[in-house]
Amino acid sequence: MPALAERLKDVTVSPIVAMSTRARALKAEGHQVISLAVGEPDFPTPPHAIEAAHQAALRGETKYPAQDGSPALKKAIQAKFRRENDLDYALDEICVCNGGKQVLMNAFFATLTPGDEVVIPVPFWASYAEMVKLAGGVPVFVHCPQNNGFKLRPEDLDAAITPKTKMVMLNFPNNPTGAACSRDEMKALGEVLVKHGHVWVLTDDMYEHLVFDGFEFCTIAQVEPRLKDRTITCNGVSKTYAMTGWRVGYAGGPKQVIKAMVNMQGQVTSGVSGITQAAAVAALEGPQDLVRGRAEVYRTRRDLVVEMLNQAPGLVCHKPEGAFYVYPNVAGCLGKTTAGGRRIETDADFAMALLEEKLVAAVHGAAYGMSPYLRISYATDTESLREACTRIQDFCKGLA
Ligand code: PLP
Repeated sequence: MPALAERLKDVTVSPIVAMSTRARALKAEGHQVISLAVGEPDFPTPPHAIEAAHQAALRGETKYPAQDGSPALKKAIQAKFRRENDLDYALDEICVCNGGKQVLMNAFFATLTPGDEVVIPVPFWASYAEMVKLAGGVPVFVHCPQNNGFKLRPEDLDAAITPKTKMVMLNFPNNPTGAACSRDEMKALGEVLVKHGHVWVLTDDMYEHLVFDGFEFCTIAQVEPRLKDRTITCNGVSKTYAMTGWRVGYAGGPKQVIKAMVNMQGQVTSGVSGITQAAAVAALEGPQDLVRGRAEVYRTRRDLVVEMLNQAPGLVCHKPEGAFYVYPNVAGCLGKTTAGGRRIETDADFAMALLEEKLVAAVHGAAYGMSPYLRISYATDTESLREACTRIQDFCKGLA
């Protein structure tokens, strides 16, 4: 067989996929697996979004769509940025892409020249590093310590930026830790970034609406307007409106970079389906109380999961501000042997043994660049969460 592309040499398959595949296989064998491995809301898409898609299809919005997004959706996004983020973007400073993933990929391709460094706070959503590598960039990791609530410290950010840095990534509320930055914390990061005029800032705000206990979300260009002309603000409807399968993400940013992102997308996938875009308009312009109601459900689940995990011997679970993940530390379980005779030396061993012996799927921290942890997604029903946490407690009690 002829060789595959060199550029794929260093790109790894998502460990989340590996875990989900094993979980699916166990399910297929008839086992009662509970998956806490996937970052997908368990709620349905709002009915008004589905209805809008139906109507769009009936109206014949079934042809090639505009590559940068439909005028209606771009206006809805413009209004959203104004309403929720105090950010004023002209329509040619906004683009619509096939999911948040494509927003990020377009942004990397539009800004990175091979060899450029991209600063990524760790732990990080696994796709960032792989995407950066695919675009020829070099990921540079900055540790966000647990004792700082897994948040990026300004001094660490400052130390990571070099003349080779082309971009800094921000993702708060964060996947996998749920950590979110207050206005003061974001402002302090902004002050560092203002000093480094040669870097782009790419902020991934996918979990914006999933913050709890009155926490106020903020985004970098909002708290530090001096950065707006070199910031790409990414967002999407996947997590906020439980629309992961519809594939709509969007970005606001300087006109030149948005144009480059649209050019990139135009050569790869073209615009987002018109039917899907109509659904996104309805989601963004429709009633928002649904979003707040769901955030409250996630908050009660977070509280349950944090409490139950902290009762499991060997686990320490920080209570995060947002998203739908917790990131318990499993250091207290390493060096032990499970009731089924498996030796636990790493967080990967922990995750695999937990799946095999207690049928609970979660992802090991190494997949997100920081060990020894587990990422637990609580985007699942409360009863399953309670059962899963009980199984985790039993698993930990069985370690010797
Ligand atoms: N950014 C983060 C931090 C995510 O967790 C995800 C999905 O898990 C995405 C982006 C991708 O979003 P989408 O499903 O819209 O492509």
